[in-house]
Amino acid sequence: MFHYDRGLFLTAPGVAVDIPRRQPCGFISHAHRDHMGRHEFALATPETLQLYRYIFPGRRPAQEMPYGKTIEWNGARLTAHPAGHCLGSAMLLAEIDGTRLLYTGDYKLGPSATCECAELPNADILIMECTFGNPRRPRVPREAAIDQLLDRVRATLQRGATPVIYAYPLGKSQEVTRILTSNGFGVVQNRKAYAISEIYKACGVELGHIERLDARRLPGHAVILPPQKHVSSTPLAKRKVETFAVTGWAAFPEAESRLGVDHAIPLSDHADYDELLSTVHRVQPEEVYCTHGPKSFAKELTAAGFRAAPLTAQRQLWLV
Ligand SMILES: [Zn+2]
Repeated sequence: MFHYDRGLFLTAPGVAVDIPRRQPCGFISHAHRDHMGRHEFALATPETLQLYRYIFPGRRPAQEMPYGKTIEWNGARLTAHPAGHCLGSAMLLAEIDGTRLLYTGDYKLGPSATCECAELPNADILIMECTFGNPRRPRVPREAAIDQLLDRVRATLQRGATPVIYAYPLGKSQEVTRILTSNGFGVVQNRKAYAISEIYKACGVELGHIERLDARRLPGHAVILPPQKHVSSTPLAKRKVETFAVTGWAAFPEAESRLGVDHAIPLSDHADYDELLSTVHRVQPEEVYCTHGPKSFAKELTAAGFRAAPLTAQRQLWLV
């Protein structure tokens, strides 16, 4: 049905899943770099393919998989379902010889300002991303995290400083931007996030008015930068700034000092612990395989009566 070789493979249909190395045929759940290779042939949603071809320019042969539209592939039936993680993000339902396998990829349940809500079909085998499979991570409701972001951005501007928000250029940048613009804040984005925001808009996602990073546009605006970018190499170098990290890891205590920022906002695009448990109860699988996150999560599922095991340890981005 499937095998693991430094990544997940659907054996019979010959599809590599989210492998960041070139493959003859690779399914791409979403366009974060740790899930994509320059494949000879790619399977992905139309939105993810637009992002894939922006990030890896050149001829990129591919088959579009719009949400909910099943394709036949080497004897398997493959369907993409929304994953709620970023534009185009998809879970993959593979039906092979009467067995249904659901691979979640990175996902989140509940609302998003910039992408479709996740859908969870039933499956016999569930391969799930468990980044926040730690019950000790404090749960912060999305509304509370959004209020915290808005309050702190407002207070920073009132202090005469520029809010500098570190966010991954695909997904978190657009989510934070939409939350800010729909609450009356002006937003300036760095080049990469701006280019990806143009793709969001071309795909019909409303983001509000955004400007590109430029010294003349800074007063009164919040600025979005990628996590590794230091303000000294930007037009912000001589301005008074307060820095923000917007990440699920901010739910843990002392997040500001650990993340090295003035404000840590626990807004995540990954499922929290309760959502992970809810996923298993809703999908009703006979077997669960866990990727990412703590190995203890599979043990907790086993204790709850599910047949569960970690698939492997993999590296996950620190800012998710
Ligand atoms: Zn991701």
